[in-house]
Amino acid sequence: MNSASLRATHVTPASATARRWRPSPLISGAAALHAGAAAAVVAQPHAWPWAAGSVVASHLALIAAGLWPRSALLGPNWTRLPEHAGQRIALTIDDGPDPEVTPRVLDLLDHFDVRATFFCIGDLARRHPHLVEAIVARGHAVENHSQRHRHTFSVSGPIVMKREIEAAQRTLAEIAGTPPRFFRAPAGLRNPFLEPVLCGLGLHLASWTRRGFDTRAKEAGTVTHRLLDGLAARDILLVHDGHAARDASGKPLVLDVLPPLLRAAAERQLQWTTLRACLDGEAGQP
Ligand SMILES: [Zn+2]
Repeated sequence: MNSASLRATHVTPASATARRWRPSPLISGAAALHAGAAAAVVAQPHAWPWAAGSVVASHLALIAAGLWPRSALLGPNWTRLPEHAGQRIALTIDDGPDPEVTPRVLDLLDHFDVRATFFCIGDLARRHPHLVEAIVARGHAVENHSQRHRHTFSVSGPIVMKREIEAAQRTLAEIAGTPPRFFRAPAGLRNPFLEPVLCGLGLHLASWTRRGFDTRAKEAGTVTHRLLDGLAARDILLVHDGHAARDASGKPLVLDVLPPLLRAAAERQLQWTTLRACLDGEAGQP
């Protein structure tokens, strides 16, 4: 009996415990402004251009907040590890699993004895379940990066968002054997509907402290420099095993980024941890 059929014999809960949703000050403010604008138009109909203008302005503010991946204006967002992480930092690896790149990334992480957090795409996990199993078996964490990684995610309504995230949650929980605890939006873009959906599924939104733009860069050195420049305790770094850019020889950049990055972190006395290891007050390995 292989591991997949063994897992099929027991049910893995697809979600963690729900969190309570509290609207952020920006969302509460926008809601109050809508109510105020409606009341003003009823009381003084000729004020409608001002009311409409302020409603449009509040929508623009909400859209801008969603286009800023590291913003916490729409709800809580992990842009760094919590304080109790101390000297630890986290490596997050997005858009896989990828049959060519992921196994080589796993070998590099083993070589440096580093545990990372993989934000996997549900459809790819379904296509390459053995890679997700390998990620877990080698001590890393698997988190939710949506089922299809659609670029229209950030302009979707709550029903579509929930469907995308829930499908990935089911897929990844089933293959990894434990449900994701974190969600990262495709390209980090979102809208005010996301946080209530994440709360219902018990997921935490995570972005990053610094990223290397390793899906677009031309050389590994540029990416490594972006990640190491100012690197500090509690940083969350972002690289990609899926959609990885390649150098002139066709080699995925991330494979030349990781060795100097992992060496430099060790020289700076920084230890790697996973996001979920920091969730419950523990900053050790998962
Ligand atoms: Zn992505």
